[in-house]
Amino acid sequence: MAVTDLATTNLPALPAHPDADTDRILDSGVLHELSYAFGGPFHFLLPHRFDTNLTAFRTALVDAGVEGRVYYAKKANKAAVWMERCAAHQAGVDVASVGELREALGHGVRSENIVVTGPAKSDELLRLAVLQGCLITIDALDELDLLITLALTGTVRPARLLLRRLPPAQPHSRFGMNDTETESALDRCVRAGDAVRMEGFSFHLSGYATQPRADLAGELVDLCLKARVLGLQADRISIGGGFAVDYSSADHWHTFLAGQRPEHYHARKTFDSGDFYPYHSPVAGADALRAILDTVPEGGQDTLAARLQDTGTLLMMEPGRALLAGAGSSVFCIQGVKERDGYRIVTADGTSLSLSEQWFNSEYLPDPQLVTPDGRATGGETRPACVGGASCLESDMLTWRKVLLPARPRVGDLLVYPNTAGYQMDSNESPFHDLPLPPKVVLDRLGDRPRWRLDRRPAC
Ligand SMILES: *Cc1c(COP(=O)(O)O)cnc(C)c1O
Repeated sequence: MAVTDLATTNLPALPAHPDADTDRILDSGVLHELSYAFGGPFHFLLPHRFDTNLTAFRTALVDAGVEGRVYYAKKANKAAVWMERCAAHQAGVDVASVGELREALGHGVRSENIVVTGPAKSDELLRLAVLQGCLITIDALDELDLLITLALTGTVRPARLLLRRLPPAQPHSRFGMNDTETESALDRCVRAGDAVRMEGFSFHLSGYATQPRADLAGELVDLCLKARVLGLQADRISIGGGFAVDYSSADHWHTFLAGQRPEHYHARKTFDSGDFYPYHSPVAGADALRAILDTVPEGGQDTLAARLQDTGTLLMMEPGRALLAGAGSSVFCIQGVKERDGYRIVTADGTSLSLSEQWFNSEYLPDPQLVTPDGRATGGETRPACVGGASCLESDMLTWRKVLLPARPRVGDLLVYPNTAGYQMDSNESPFHDLPLPPKVVLDRLGDRPRWRLDRRPAC
């Protein structure tokens, strides 16, 4: 029968890496207070983790003797506090819309530290970016023409730009320019004279492998040398984002992948395991940058670091998820618990729109933690639970997987999804059912009694 099918020994767990700061918050009682105050789900943010991650990237550059700049890819999380951290640390920001640009500027990020990416940028965005002296990543020839026209007819110049390359290894990508287009773009930049400042090339690869990033970076350095011969500045390259985040241990991850079966999920839901984010990465974050710098690009003889040094090329990168590693969690209150064929269906007081992975044919797999008014639950529970959202949609599941919680979940307990700051919190949020969007609170003074503040002051 179902209960024995799901004997605890067969049910693969996927606990997030232990995190002492988060544990202290979970045990402090502050989350129940906040849940009561907001009357709904919320996210908490840990800005000191952003600082640590940024420092790790910068240290990797220093250790490799490479001049470089880190730009936080803003789309990974909408909170204001990350902009504040970038401004405080003179870090850059990667934006892709007028709204994001405004946010970065409004929170004090200097315009020269902003790179504008995204395809087919609007007139308004290009105009603002030129006016502010931001660096603009050009994705297509028509966009370049528009920018050159703006720079020639406007009062502010030069327009600073990078040319984005279509990755030869990902020829079906809809982003970037191929060889012929790049050739033509270089020609147009030369002809535009001092209306533009062609500062170099960029790419952004999907996936998390380091070798293809080093290979393409090597190619971009060669392109810079070629462009310099044409009289263009071309002294920097951007390798985009895609630095993995390591959520769980190798052991747990591989055991999970090998063991998971349809009966481990509510409604026997199946996922293509290739669609799961790689929740364990042996090389993640700043270590991935170290690995890229230490790799010899295909066809070359020197490491990428040496190649950058020898050619006087500055290395830019745009990590989103990796700067947010460990920098926040999402908190839901349990509103109902129902028994079903040997497992429980827990209903949370929010929706899966606040856990974005659920909307990509995938599942956010790190185990949620159960928190009682006295702190993290302990005990020993043999009945697993899936977690549904408080909406009327069958598909609104925060966790399809039957998770073994450490104690019997009760109404009023909290479920905390760990490490959600990177892309989980708000990329799909919507006030579905007229439910308010979960607020974000910043916990910037940890201690026995953590202090909190709202990420944004409420509008008056
Ligand atoms: C999304 C994106 C990034 C950030 O990617 P991460 O995987 O979060 O590091 C960086 N650059 C560009 C151009 C992007 O589109």
